[in-house]
Amino acid sequence: ATPTALMAGTGKAAENGVLFRDGEAIQTMKDIDTVVLDKTGTITEGNHSVTDVVVGDDTGVRADGGLLKGDQREAEREVLRLAASAERGSEHPIGQAIIDYAETQGIELAELSDFDSVPGKGIEAVIDGRTVYVGNVKFFEEVGIELPQFYESKLNELEEEGKTTVLVGIEDEIVGVVSTADTIKDDSYEAIEALHDRGIETWMITGDNERTARAIADTVNIDPARVMAGVLPQDKIDKVRQLQDEGKEVAMIGDGINDAPALKQANVGVAIGTGTDIAIQSSDVSLVRGSLGALVDAFTLSERIFSKIK
Ligand code: ADP
Ligand code: MG
Repeated sequence: ATPTALMAGTGKAAENGVLFRDGEAIQTMKDIDTVVLDKTGTITEGNHSVTDVVVGDDTGVRADGGLLKGDQREAEREVLRLAASAERGSEHPIGQAIIDYAETQGIELAELSDFDSVPGKGIEAVIDGRTVYVGNVKFFEEVGIELPQFYESKLNELEEEGKTTVLVGIEDEIVGVVSTADTIKDDSYEAIEALHDRGIETWMITGDNERTARAIADTVNIDPARVMAGVLPQDKIDKVRQLQDEGKEVAMIGDGINDAPALKQANVGVAIGTGTDIAIQSSDVSLVRGSLGALVDAFTLSERIFSKIK
């Protein structure tokens, strides 16, 4: 292919909202046999909202503000207040969803005297002199707080429904669960089907837990054996590398800061146009429309451009 022909193709694609960085990106695109899709913000909209706040059936509020046997409704509000207050220090979409929900419930947030966050796991904050933890099972294991049977089965139940869960703990004890849900983008199912029709293998990658990830994968028809869940931000790149080591030509699609190294590592990195600047800068292709339909267009365009100029 001549550079000028590829340049012309690039311009044509741009008119369709598919921005190839250069001619080489168009060329590499047509050899892709494997697509790795980030879950949150790529397959889904990435706009979490709270669905459930759960406390143990023996939990309530103590006079000193701790949680003990008592009124369940009050306990739920207290768990929500603590979780939302702790999330004030975070920029995670789950945190924002919890804060927004607490506000709709007329809950006044507390001040934080200390805050720390562990990417892909959770946050820790000091509220009214007590340490509050909000995060996933991995995070609580790391902190050394035991997961009671009651909360383990609650997590199961919520995650089977495709909800994302976080545990809430005070000091050395788990006191509640908050779950959020995220809407799957309108055309994700259809686009993944179109990729399969082209003979492309699709994988999902996420920091979210296995059960939630599988429930979402099931909805969009991704093989459960091709779900990579609980992947820490710094480990996404290794997952892409592993597939490449198996001889696959990999395109990685993502939107977040977390995705940037994996986008660079992939044979073709594709950024969702509504994503973060760093994801866009790390990519070979960016999709102006923030949907997977545009990804299918990118494949079609690269094939068409390339067959014309060959
Ligand atoms: P994703 O790949 O879906 O963008 P992340 O790597 O950002 O996920 O986070 C993975 C998991 O870590 C979340 O599903 C959540 O359980 C936990 N987590 C991360 N940050 C927070 C936070 N600020 N508050 C609560 N949980 C968090
Ligand atoms: Mg994402």
